[in-house]
Order: sequence, then structure tokens, then C-alpha cells
Amino acid sequence: MTDEASHLFYQTRNPRPFLERGEGIYLFDESGKRYIDGSSGAMVSNIGHSNPRVLAKMKAQMDKATFGYRLHFRTHPSEDLAAKTAAMTPEGLDRVFFVSGGSEAVESAVKLARQYALTQGQGSRYKVISRFPSYHGCTFGALDLTGYDPLREPFAPMMEGMPKVAAPATYLDRDNLSEDERGLKYAELLRDRIIEAGPDTVLAFVMEPVGGASTGALVAPDSYYGRVREICDEFGVLLIYDEVMTGAGRTGKFLAAEHWGITPDIVAMSKGFGAGYAPLGAIVAPARIVEPVLDAGGFLHGFTYAGNPLACSAGLAVLEELEEQGLIENAARMGDVLMDELRGLMERYPFIGDVRGKGLLTAFEFVADRSTMEPLAPKLNAYDRLVELAYERGLIIYSRRTRGGTAGDHFLIAPPLIITREQIGEMMAILHDALDAFAEEVGLPVEV
Ligand code: PMP
Repeated sequence: MTDEASHLFYQTRNPRPFLERGEGIYLFDESGKRYIDGSSGAMVSNIGHSNPRVLAKMKAQMDKATFGYRLHFRTHPSEDLAAKTAAMTPEGLDRVFFVSGGSEAVESAVKLARQYALTQGQGSRYKVISRFPSYHGCTFGALDLTGYDPLREPFAPMMEGMPKVAAPATYLDRDNLSEDERGLKYAELLRDRIIEAGPDTVLAFVMEPVGGASTGALVAPDSYYGRVREICDEFGVLLIYDEVMTGAGRTGKFLAAEHWGITPDIVAMSKGFGAGYAPLGAIVAPARIVEPVLDAGGFLHGFTYAGNPLACSAGLAVLEELEEQGLIENAARMGDVLMDELRGLMERYPFIGDVRGKGLLTAFEFVADRSTMEPLAPKLNAYDRLVELAYERGLIIYSRRTRGGTAGDHFLIAPPLIITREQIGEMMAILHDALDAFAEEVGLPVEV
């Protein structure tokens, strides 16, 4: 079918081939061409495609009931998934609220925070500080938290304009500070922002513990995480971790927060939580936040499809599979292998300025000059071209040009957590080939 014949639209017209089937880390189009799903779609398909356990569990649920409205029935899949989620998240995070996607999860976290503040007699608190750049979703509430101007600008008059603070993009800093000092420097920016906004008006701070689409797997120095937790506590500001992309094992721990021993006040998850088998997401919070809200009359929030038994049966099987196949540990191990491979690319390609990430959420960024970290000329359309050259060769990667909406082409490599060492080799061979083709096409030098 050509574009003209399609009734369907997304952000743009869709020139891609039709998907036929998926198997493990691979996807096949209708012509039979095979692709390595090097970005798990949009960091979604954490346990790979067509997992037999998940399909069997969903089929068994489908044979019983696909939907039962939560105000009419409790269901075992939703109760079991909530219990399993609470068991897999850090101690204290034991109340779970289901949604169908990441934007819904972020909005739910913020609304829970607000209702909790009201129960504490803190109605003056409503501002939610987030980072710039960042991505938290495209519905109005989540978009207001998103630090990415091109997506916000058309809708800016329709939003409150929540305060922003710089994300710790320390790889761009050219100061003489140690990594530790840099982490603390960025945390102090949050403290300044809270004071400037008026501490008794600030409800929450929301952050991606490892950046996703907006910052390309940005990891802050270790010192940042603990200091941010302290600052939030100092001012009674709730700390919300947006683990929509990082949650469910992607970074080598169930939650990325565990890398730094942080217990956030509320966590938002989606993507890998349903792993592409069902639209699913969740927020997880401690009883001390949820119970007062329930006691005060209930959470004034909820989506029709929330907690439906079919999606929850998929989610439950996904978490069982993560655990029983040791996929979170595999993500940590294979993440190290992948990171070494990506760092190796810097020897051959001088236009790769930075490689970063955690577990199997990794990225590399193009620069014109490593010493200044000046980005490549936008007219080269690098973020688009490399993706196309890889796609032609049977590798799917995910790219964005952000650094606050202006420049900085980065590429996310985030394969399913089931990937093997051999498959990483296969993926890297295609990536090399695509990078060579890109360098030749735009006339950039390659070290031989
Ligand atoms: N938060 C983060 C960190 C994300 O990466 C995304 C999706 N890219 C969202 C929220 C929004 O999720 P969704 O597209 O499912 O609404």
C-alpha cells in the first residue's frame, strides 16, 4: 500500500514496510527481510518477541475473560501482578496503581503526589520541577514536565509552564571539577530552583534516573542521586522517578534507582513492564502516601482500561520471565559487553564524541569536534541518515537530535534483554557497516 492509499497517520506519513512477525530479538517484514530489533522498538520489547510463556498466559486469560471493569470485579491477574511488582521493587514501595502507558503513569504519579499533599494540609504545593532536557510524555500534564522545546512550543499557552532545572549533561562540561563535584553541582541547581520557586509551592521533582529519548542514556555522576534525595527531603518535596524506560530490568536492575540505593517516593513504569505484549504501565508508591489518599475519600483518578485482566496477565508473565530466565542479570552482563563494543567505535570514528549508558540502555553521540563537543552540522541530518543506513542493512536503532532541542545527534542502542554475546557481535557488524557508509556519504574521516 502506498502512502496515498493509507487512511492512517501518526506524527508523519509512514513509509515503512509492513511487519510480518517477530521472534526473539528479530523482526521480519512482509518480504521476509530480517531486522535486529536493536532498540526493542522504543525500548519496549525487553523480553524479545513472541515469548511462548507470555503468549500462553495471555491465551489462557483470553479464553476466560478479556475484560472485567475494575469497579465491578477484582481479577487475579491484576492482584497477582500488583503483588509481584511490589515484591520486585525496593522495600517500602508496595502499593501499585495500573495504567496503560508511560504518559498515563507520569500523570498518575503527579496526581497522587498532589492528593497526598492535600491530605497533609499542604495545598500550596503544586509545582513539579523537572529537568531540561527530559521526556515524560505527550499528554498535557506530562508534556508540561517534558524539557524539549520543539514538542512543547505549539501548546505552551495551554500549560502552566512548570519549572525546569538543567539535566546533568556532564559530558559537555569543560570545567576542572571531579565527577563527584560535578554531580553535586547539578544537584545544587535543583536546590536553587526549589528556593527560587518558593519551597512551600513545590510539590515534587521528577527525573529519569538514566535519561531516555531526550538525552540519550544520560547517566549522572553517582554523587548526584543521593544529594537529590537529600534536597527533596530537606524541603518536603516528593521525589518521583520516571522509570517508564529504565524500569523492568532495562538497566541491569529491576529499577534503575537500585543502582544508587535510592527509594523514590513514587515510581512510574511502562514500556518494558508490558514489554510490547499489552499496553501497560504502573505507578508504585509506599502505603504512607497511598493510605492517607484512600482514607480521605480516594484517588480521584483512573483510566477505563486500567488493570484489565488481559494486559495484567501479560505483565505477570513478563515479570516471571525476567526472573526465571535471569534476564535482569543478563542485561547487566550484556550491557558491559555492548558498552565495550561501543567505546571501541570511538577509535575508528572520530565523529563519535561520547558513549554512555547503563545496562542495556546505551547510546553514542556524534560531534564535529571532540575537544569542544560541538555537534555535527544539522544539515547532515545525521540522526536520520544513520538510522536509515542501519535499517537498510537490517538493524533497527533509535535516534534523536536534542541537547535541549537544538543539536546533538544521539543514537540509542537498547536491544531486548535476552540478547546473547554472539547477537551483539552480529548487531555491531551491521552498525560498523552503517557507520562506514554514513562517513563516506557525508565525507567524514575514518581512522584505519
Ligand atoms: N517517560 C519516559 C521516560 C519515556 O521514555 C516515555 C516514552 N518515550 C514516556 C514517559 C511516555 O510514555 P508513552 O509514550 O507510553 O506515553
